[in-house]
Amino acid sequence: MNNNKTKIILGIETSCDDTAIAVVNSERKILSNIVINQNSEHMQHGGIVPEIAARAHLKLLEYALERALKKANKSLNEIDLICATGGPGLIGGLIVGTTFAKTLSLTLDKPYISVNHLEGHALTTRLINNISYPYLLLLVSGGHTQLLGVIAYGEYKRISTTLDDAAGETFDKGAKMLGLKHPGGPEIEKYSLKGDENSYIFPKPMYKSKNPNFSFSGLKTAFSRTISRINNIEKEKSNLAASLQFTISECILDRTKSALNIFKKMISNDKNIQLVVAGGVAANTKIRQELLEFSKQENIEFFAPPINLCTDNGAMIAWAGYEKFINLGSSKLDFKPRPRWPLDPTAHLLNPTMKIVGKKGIKS
Ligand code: AMP
Ligand code: MG
Repeated sequence: MNNNKTKIILGIETSCDDTAIAVVNSERKILSNIVINQNSEHMQHGGIVPEIAARAHLKLLEYALERALKKANKSLNEIDLICATGGPGLIGGLIVGTTFAKTLSLTLDKPYISVNHLEGHALTTRLINNISYPYLLLLVSGGHTQLLGVIAYGEYKRISTTLDDAAGETFDKGAKMLGLKHPGGPEIEKYSLKGDENSYIFPKPMYKSKNPNFSFSGLKTAFSRTISRINNIEKEKSNLAASLQFTISECILDRTKSALNIFKKMISNDKNIQLVVAGGVAANTKIRQELLEFSKQENIEFFAPPINLCTDNGAMIAWAGYEKFINLGSSKLDFKPRPRWPLDPTAHLLNPTMKIVGKKGIKS
């Protein structure tokens, strides 16, 4: 491979229910970004069915590749690096995407790179905004809710995580209770526009706590109990959605405030602080606005990816794969997909509730 020329990178994402392939170059240009969501296949089941997701990835990957290459105006032979999500995520989909990438790597004789999905979200801001390390990252998605100090490539210090449910999961479950479609986050956001966020008061778990972790299960239970007491849910849907969105947003903001102080000590600097939000929940306009306001008050810089790069996509996998390749080289072809793959592999040791390591490894 010519080391001086611009690299053309293929990014393959199959860790959940989006079949996504992108072509990105090493000059930070997204040449194509194809995302095929499987919502219609899962909707009738009220949530994601792992086996259905894996089969759908198998069916859709070749088509996604064709579209990504065509849109980028590239042929397979012009691809320099083949990157695919290797975890964390649903094992069936990870196996499908990883096998697809390894096969391309072998047949084209190009390097293969296994990418941590969370690193994809974490580094999206470097693809889009070209910001330098370090930064404080708020990662809010369907499966994860974490605050991390991103110190350098591969150096992640987890400040907090959720003790139970993720923020995205809370949006999804709340939406399900209201009889809304999956995924629930965008639905809750849509209904919130017509509702009054002060109409219901819900508990804010961990609010103002010195412990910087998140918790959402109590909120979920309170939301469910409130719904069970209402006779005409249809009439109250917008108010309930707005109040739920408000409460989740307040919790996220409060936890970010507490993590900011820890981050400042971590990097022994309280100047030029950068706050980055990533993950599907970062698509939420209210949450973005609250974080922007907070950043202005604190005099720190705030970065949020464009909405289409908040939810799962191949472009973030291509970019994170490229950074990994520069720093660590290619991955071995015997890499085994990892349903669990934490960014900070030592973080669980600091948290008494998370010291238990299961068969699949340390939780993310
Ligand atoms: P990810 O896990 O990163 O693919 O993100 C998916 C999660 O983001 C799901 O739980 C969605 O409900 C949530 N999500 C997507 N868009 C929004 C939104 N506009 N507001 C709140 N949550 C959202
Ligand atoms: Mg994700």
